[in-house]
Amino acid sequence: MIKVENLSKTFGKNEVLKNISTSINTGEVVSIIGPSGSGKSTLLRCINLLEKPTKGRVLVYDQDITDPKTNINKVREQIGMVFQHFHLFPHMTVLDNLTYAPMKVKGESRQVAEKKARELLSRVGLTEKENAYPNNLSGGQKQRVAIARALAMEPKLMLFDEPTSALDPEMVKEVLNVMKDLAQSGMTMAIVTHEMGFAKEVADRVLFLDDGVLLEEGKPEEFFNSPRTSRAKDFLEKVL
Ligand code: ADP
Ligand code: MG
Repeated sequence: MIKVENLSKTFGKNEVLKNISTSINTGEVVSIIGPSGSGKSTLLRCINLLEKPTKGRVLVYDQDITDPKTNINKVREQIGMVFQHFHLFPHMTVLDNLTYAPMKVKGESRQVAEKKARELLSRVGLTEKENAYPNNLSGGQKQRVAIARALAMEPKLMLFDEPTSALDPEMVKEVLNVMKDLAQSGMTMAIVTHEMGFAKEVADRVLFLDDGVLLEEGKPEEFFNSPRTSRAKDFLEKVL
């Protein structure tokens, strides 16, 4: 579904991604882990062109999104993104947060959009919150709304950038459980996370980034039990 070819990204003189090549297959769950500042968010953001690669290509279904001829908005409709800090629309109810883009971007009728939104709210356990405003929700509830809102666009791929890092500990699990259900439903997912237990359990593949370099890539059991590089060993000793 996604092919990353020799991707480099430079901010000023700072090369934060160095010649990264990898791919994400349909139905696959890929966890991206690594130290702070290693380029995880930048890599994720290059996949939907929130950051423009300096070198290399990103292909989404064989379409080069760095090609100026590609309609990036059409590509982005297929890619949902969930951020650490939720980014909900604060002046809209939960239901309106979910129906806004499907109506505005996809031209869905309110009736269709609301029906789908209610199904999604039920899926993330927030049926009773449809008329609430984001400020009146807990962090875990906000993040579940953010996931439901992304799903309302019926994406083919979901990108998560540290979705539980801003949450109080008791709310981490409710969000991870929603993500686990999503993974089990066959959604293709790329997840930047510091939740190693989750990565171990749910990911099909782990990417380890260090200083902009894709140092290791493999099955979670191999990576967590026998990392090949000393950088990965050091990292895992600190976080496990
Ligand atoms: P991570 O998500 O792994 O913590 P990031 O991808 O956020 O890492 O950042 C990688 C490096 O790129 C860091 O050194 C960061 O300061 C730098 N960086 C990220 N975004 C920008 C930006 N918009 N402008 C300049 N430097 C940036
Ligand atoms: Mg980051």
